[in-house]
Amino acid sequence: MNTSARSLTRSPRSVSRKPPTRRGPWGAATAFAAKALSLLGGVAVCSIGLLALGSVGCGRPVAHVLADLAVSGASHPTLPRPDALSESARAAGYRILGGDLHCHVRPPDGYPHVSRTVAETVALAREEKLDFVVLTPHLRAGFFLDEGRRAVAIAQQRTLAEEVRRAAGSGPVFVVGFEYTDFTYGHLGASFGDLEAVLAAVPVHEAQARPGRFFDEYVRRGGFLVINHPLLVPLDTLIPWARYDMSWQPFTRRMPEPFPDEIMTAGRLAQGIEVFNLAVSEMRDRLMLFDRHHSLREAMRLVDWQITLRPRRFVPVGGSDSHSAHLRATTFVLASARTPESIRDALRAGRVCVREPAACSLEARGEGTAGQGSVWSPVGSSLHDVHRLVVRTRGERARILLNGRALAPEGPGRDIEVTVDPRWCSVVRAEVDGGYSAPIYVNCGDLGGDPLEPPQPASSVARFTPDTP
Ligand SMILES: [Zn+2]
Ligand SMILES: [Zn+2]
Repeated sequence: MNTSARSLTRSPRSVSRKPPTRRGPWGAATAFAAKALSLLGGVAVCSIGLLALGSVGCGRPVAHVLADLAVSGASHPTLPRPDALSESARAAGYRILGGDLHCHVRPPDGYPHVSRTVAETVALAREEKLDFVVLTPHLRAGFFLDEGRRAVAIAQQRTLAEEVRRAAGSGPVFVVGFEYTDFTYGHLGASFGDLEAVLAAVPVHEAQARPGRFFDEYVRRGGFLVINHPLLVPLDTLIPWARYDMSWQPFTRRMPEPFPDEIMTAGRLAQGIEVFNLAVSEMRDRLMLFDRHHSLREAMRLVDWQITLRPRRFVPVGGSDSHSAHLRATTFVLASARTPESIRDALRAGRVCVREPAACSLEARGEGTAGQGSVWSPVGSSLHDVHRLVVRTRGERARILLNGRALAPEGPGRDIEVTVDPRWCSVVRAEVDGGYSAPIYVNCGDLGGDPLEPPQPASSVARFTPDTP
């Protein structure tokens, strides 16, 4: 076992599904402050729209106005950023595109849970200079098990696609996806798949017999699955919404019994993991834990662990999870062109960084066991039979990590030499100017295989222990 896997599987600690009862860090706060924070966080996570929300004159719920205010101080990437391209990415013909993979919209999401319309979303995306936006309205768990709910889902997706086509014009690329919302086991972002074709290929009786067939077919037909806010575990606090568990249960929950077939299947097939959720970072981590990087760093540790466990290609992505009048570039991809196909290909290949685009400048050059040299390879690459690496980034504040451990103190981007064991899968990542890169995979075998292959048993029983204060 390498150092990363060892450090991430330290002594297990349970994450309770029940709200904690002890007074937390806000125990001394006034009732007014607690109420204000409760409202502020009302849209921090997806199901909080169930809270009773007030309205203000502009037509938006009070909680949304406060959420927009809170997010206004968040990191605000400038686009375009050609200077963040590595030499190898430039040589391969890639450009950096910035966008959002997790964004709610009404309809089909309802008011007051979501207050931003399609037209407003398009206007905001143009204003923010986003290259792409994936719309992810909620679809409740198990919708594919019932003809009536299928029909509603298809009608909603058709209407949304038509509205987007009319409103978007030649602006940002819009992709109509959905957020599969299971209040018991967790949430999944689904995009780039043809929902109608998937449902046609998996009739109701087949889905009822084996619910995981839906996700099998979604990925088989080119869909991209993301485990959303995977470590959104309850906080020990008096604030009600922060006590809900919306983490991905196969990562965080003890297993008194097997998880449902569709959850196990989706977890096995998911290509992405939402390490950066703007709402979680800015309204939960920043306001309640006083560290806006907390969940992001924990989720990156989770990515390292999952990759070395299987190994597998597991791509960290970002999303605003916006329900109101803000959007933000949260995910950056190295893509050949600004088209849905190129963006999807970049995501699947892991040519990605989150939060700030500078981290996409990560590149590595390996030397093999036979001592041969090699060329520079960009983020997302998989290097084989390597015992020594040279890794570099651009940027002012850079940190390079091997299996989660920093190789050198933070400093300006520079070349760093790394020795690795060719027998073990190693994960190289970078943190640059507030951004986090996806990995370069070193000695991890063939990662381009069929994602529908049977899982390795170890992945279904391992549990991640979030470092929750
Ligand atoms: Zn959401
Ligand atoms: Zn969600």
